[in-house]
Amino acid sequence: MNASNPTIVYRFKNGLYVNLTNRCPTACVFCIKNAWKMDFRGSNLNLGGAEPSPADVIALAKEQWAAAPFQEFIFCGYGEPTMRLEAMLACARMIKTGRAEPLPRTMKVRLNTNGLANAVWGRNVVPEMKGLIDSVHVSLNTADPAQWLALMRPMEPWAATGFEKVKEFIREAVMLLPEVYATAVENQDIDLEKFKALAGQLGAELRLRPKLEAEAPQ
Ligand code: SF4
Repeated sequence: MNASNPTIVYRFKNGLYVNLTNRCPTACVFCIKNAWKMDFRGSNLNLGGAEPSPADVIALAKEQWAAAPFQEFIFCGYGEPTMRLEAMLACARMIKTGRAEPLPRTMKVRLNTNGLANAVWGRNVVPEMKGLIDSVHVSLNTADPAQWLALMRPMEPWAATGFEKVKEFIREAVMLLPEVYATAVENQDIDLEKFKALAGQLGAELRLRPKLEAEAPQ
């Protein structure tokens, strides 16, 4: 167990990852937050309910930039970033309007999401992301609604309509955002051909993600 202070931003490969919240409307079977006890490669992502403000996030990002520039700014922690839609968009807006300099306005801003934002907020939130989110990676995982339920384990309010709402989110994102991926975790017994076909129908690129559970957290 990592007992250090909560980590709000952390580095991985060429990106700066932002841990905005621990709240999530799903409990995916492949989520590593429990197996890794809220640790991600040495960073304690347990916010303990103290969610950071956009100003906190940008201040920390500037510190990281000063230490060493990064290429992507990615909303992705142990929680669903769109649970904090306004805070997420505020961070992105600060970057895109130059109010987060020296972070460049051209910085690629990416959202990793389970795609349930429209279901959770009860409206189409994708237009609010236009011009702020450059890339969205949606963890769709399967073309089979029953398997989606088994893999994603959504909370009750989003169980019945969730799969269709995620597909709708992807369709909307494809129309308005520059880059949209439908992602799947490898080794989940999915019908890859059907998944590829569904991603194609939705207009999204496809990305397979490695299953992290097999790795040690560090
Ligand atoms: S959406 Fe992400 S944080 Fe939420 S349960 Fe799934 S893997 Fe974990």
